[in-house]
Amino acid sequence: MDCEECRGLILTDFIDGELQKEKDVELHEHLSSCPECVKLSETARQTLVKPFREAPLLEPGDSLWNGITQRVEETARLRQQEAERIRQLEMQPQPSPKSLRRPHFIIICIFSLIITLAVIAGVYFWESHIVKTGNPAAHSGVASATSVASSTSVASDATIASFTPQPPK
Ligand SMILES: [Zn+2]
Repeated sequence: MDCEECRGLILTDFIDGELQKEKDVELHEHLSSCPECVKLSETARQTLVKPFREAPLLEPGDSLWNGITQRVEETARLRQQEAERIRQLEMQPQPSPKSLRRPHFIIICIFSLIITLAVIAGVYFWESHIVKTGNPAAHSGVASATSVASSTSVASDATIASFTPQPPK
């Protein structure tokens, strides 16, 4: 082992106490014959290892513990509030799919009723009109007009008037 490798190991694994056994043997063989590297190892031990091994243990002050305790309690309180909020949301009655569909069903029923009434009113109007005119040729016109009115579901006066059969001249 040369001086360069020895000094590299002294400043790393040797002062950390992590030197592999065979390297440790080689290092001590080199140190037994090299006063320069012995000097470096002693300096490293005194300046890099000893101060930390002999340093007094520091106890955290009360203010630090109080701050930590306060933050832990605050976090626990916020989590508890969130859990309570979620629990209340879960307890609220959820709208069932059946009640969500009900308004649509009512609208469809009302719309169907309006269409049916419009068709009935149209048929009644046409029949009373035929009785007044007495024109048998108008029957075919009435039938087609009624079917148009019922198929389009619109029986306004304007539509009906446009299908009114005219007596032959
Ligand atoms: Zn050396």
